[in-house]
Amino acid sequence: MAPEAWPQNKVLKGIAASPGIIIAPAHVLADRNRVQVFYRYLGSRHQVAEEQERFREAIIRTQQELSRSKEAIPEDFREHAYIVDTHLLILQDRLLLDETLRLIQEETINAEWALKQAVKEAQKLFGQIADSYIRSRVQDIEDVSERIMRHLTGTNPSSFTNFKEPVIIVAQNLSPVDTTQMSLERVQGFITEMGGKTSHIAIMAQSLRIPAVVGLENAVREIDTGYTLVLDGLSGTVIINPDVETMSIYLGRKKQFENFKAEINRSSFLPAVTLDDYPTRILANIEFQDELDLVLDYGADGIGLYRTEFLYLRQHYLPTEEELFEDYKTVAHIMKPKPVTIRTLDIGGDKFASYSQYVHEMNPALGLRAIRFSLKEQQVFRSQLRAILRASAFGAVRIMFPLISGVQEVLAARQMLEEIKAELRQEGLTFDSQIPVGVMIEVPAAVMLADLLAQEADFFSIGTNDLIQYALAIDRGNKYVAEMYQPLHPAVLRMVKHVVDTAHAADIPVAMCGEMAGDPLYTPILLGLGVDELSMNVTSIPVVKRIVRMATLEEAKEFANQVLQLGSIDAVTSLVTNFMARRFPEVFMFGRELVNSNY
Ligand code: PEP
Ligand code: MG
Repeated sequence: MAPEAWPQNKVLKGIAASPGIIIAPAHVLADRNRVQVFYRYLGSRHQVAEEQERFREAIIRTQQELSRSKEAIPEDFREHAYIVDTHLLILQDRLLLDETLRLIQEETINAEWALKQAVKEAQKLFGQIADSYIRSRVQDIEDVSERIMRHLTGTNPSSFTNFKEPVIIVAQNLSPVDTTQMSLERVQGFITEMGGKTSHIAIMAQSLRIPAVVGLENAVREIDTGYTLVLDGLSGTVIINPDVETMSIYLGRKKQFENFKAEINRSSFLPAVTLDDYPTRILANIEFQDELDLVLDYGADGIGLYRTEFLYLRQHYLPTEEELFEDYKTVAHIMKPKPVTIRTLDIGGDKFASYSQYVHEMNPALGLRAIRFSLKEQQVFRSQLRAILRASAFGAVRIMFPLISGVQEVLAARQMLEEIKAELRQEGLTFDSQIPVGVMIEVPAAVMLADLLAQEADFFSIGTNDLIQYALAIDRGNKYVAEMYQPLHPAVLRMVKHVVDTAHAADIPVAMCGEMAGDPLYTPILLGLGVDELSMNVTSIPVVKRIVRMATLEEAKEFANQVLQLGSIDAVTSLVTNFMARRFPEVFMFGRELVNSNY
């Protein structure tokens, strides 16, 4: 029986970061003694050198501490050693090291205060980055600076005890390096006040398959060590000292979730065939070669979208044809005989390489991006086409052009492809002369011209991320209009139907590779509309496959027809949610949370 003063059944809401339900006692890590720093001028110039020296020593001690942590990482945790490496690199980074030394010198302030200012500056810089994942990486700088700060001030880092019982760790913040120092066999869950869906702790918890809730304000104040907690990493809910009834509800939910997870993972390798024997294909979207292990693990039927921007963005110069060729060849070879759809460069828009001259567009989403960029910068395009064609000798490679808005662009791109084929023949290099060429349907103009484009393409792939943005005039990255970014908008659904019907009349298949394809809520509609292939983030594959295998084509068609009769998003949404809750209750309950994480 809990003491009187303990809160009972108190519900806290945070961000669901790693799926799963756990009931266990809390272990609160005190607020890690966040170091307080007070402003202080240095009395004299010679103190500047002393202060800089003190800072350099703190850096060396932090380096030694991190290197020791890295060595102590247990074997089955080795894949996370890169996080320690990242922290070691940050120690040398200009933003922290040079900037702190400069501030000590120029403002004659003490090392702690200078470091604090340098971190603030870095936070400001990162705050301006559009990409939420990269923006959130400022967390690494904060973690490292806190370590340095402890060495500067001589504060002891909180030590992580070897827990004797299973516990849920509650902390203000947890760096992955902290987690490497815990006895993880006893850690059942994580709750942190800081962090978002893409924070390291979220990613790490997912890969360890430990449920987690992050961004839960005041967790450390509300929860005491020893409290019993329900942690629901599917909905982001934490319940403090649940009563018997709540406990039994969550135990039931936990069991149901675990059965569901086991079932979808088991069936992930089975073919994506409906109950009435209609075969469809579920493929994966990738951005890096490293994802191929997961692609194979999740039973994908191939790669439906290989986004190729990474090799162009990661360095300060253009990749060579050889670099591209080696990369594409490896992917084609590993996936063989399954298809690999390589999308040509979609640079521009919000993705510009630092060496590009086109960084100052007023309206980049409507600017020189994707195929427009490639047709303008022909040398860049040629070298990519050569690399793709050469890689086609090593597997089932398809090529696909992004952001096509008219027939001329396809003809120009195809002509260049033909020229390069002739070049390669002359050079005696082998390639697949019948390489399928696809057109991405991402612009409303392409929808309207689907009949003409179909004459010039071997397949279509609908990129709903952009199609929705351009059809509804909603910036896909703008949080103020995010609510209006609606795949179930009747205009979007009609566009999909038109593209599919037109392509089928011309006898070519249609894939979909935008995020819409991987959301299980839409699977029956897309099946019913006749989309032939769905390509998605790997983690969506088991759930989407499960729906396909539980559905019939006939019911999906009938359902899609009903949906197409409706004229408002609200009407469509309510029909879809009712249908899903009735027909696929477990997928409806757990599926969408699962697809957003590794599990
Ligand atoms: C899309 O627009 O749906 C798509 C798949 O391409 P990207 O998200 O890379 O623009
Ligand atoms: Mg796109």
